[in-house]
Amino acid sequence: MRSLSYKRIFDRTILESVLAHYTSLVGISGQIKNSYRQYVLKKGSPSIVPIEVSEAQRGDFENAYSNKPVSAGLNWISELYINGLNSCPFCGGDGARTIEHYLPQASYPEFSVYSLNLLPSCGSCNSKRNSLNAHGATTSPLHPYFDKQILKKLNVYTVVNFDCGIIGFHLTYDRTPFNDEEQLRIDYHIEISLDETSYINRTLDSLETLRISAEKYNSATEFRKQVIDDQIYISERKKDYNSWHHALCKGLAALSNDNLHAIFGDSFNLRAPPPSNESD
Ligand SMILES: [Zn+2]
Repeated sequence: MRSLSYKRIFDRTILESVLAHYTSLVGISGQIKNSYRQYVLKKGSPSIVPIEVSEAQRGDFENAYSNKPVSAGLNWISELYINGLNSCPFCGGDGARTIEHYLPQASYPEFSVYSLNLLPSCGSCNSKRNSLNAHGATTSPLHPYFDKQILKKLNVYTVVNFDCGIIGFHLTYDRTPFNDEEQLRIDYHIEISLDETSYINRTLDSLETLRISAEKYNSATEFRKQVIDDQIYISERKKDYNSWHHALCKGLAALSNDNLHAIFGDSFNLRAPPPSNESD
């Protein structure tokens, strides 16, 4: 979960190419331009009233997004898939290999190829949100371009429970910097974006990697300093804020040495020394 820098796309210019390509849309061009303006003014709010479109116009919007014709100036959409993101801006899961329509196409076909509405996202949260952020929704998820202030303050971490030797994870965040309305939005965002199975599996995998790293060290103090703090540093330097790996490391960093030992103690000092190069 993180904000993204918006790479300026000239939507008005592109719209002219789209209208030349899909002539059914020419009759509503003024309304489309007005909707684009509304989107900026209202920061993608689902209170924006959708344009009424015919079936043919809806079909043309869908085709424009699916086919992304170069002649309609839509080749920039394909470039959104090559984003270098290690984690999903919406949920913190691995990568961002799909494109999210923040205001869903079903409710808002006019934003099908509008750059501010198209955001890199992972597949699991994209399908979980589906068309929930439809017109009239009273709470909306965080928008990586418009909710920068909230996202920059958002500190998501994983609470690790290990009652009776069974490890459990729970994703939560520090509520202190946020007012009630902001907390409501963050709670809603997590609720509709977090794919619990993917999150647990990814976190178990991270924990296993950390256990293997722990084999090189002989105490919780050393492991905390050399591995956990280092992993947090790397995630933050990569701007991989609130990825599930980052969240787990932050949750572990908050544990006492005794609790760290309870989780990783079996791994400490296990690694065999590297074989000597000298022949005997
Ligand atoms: Zn995601």
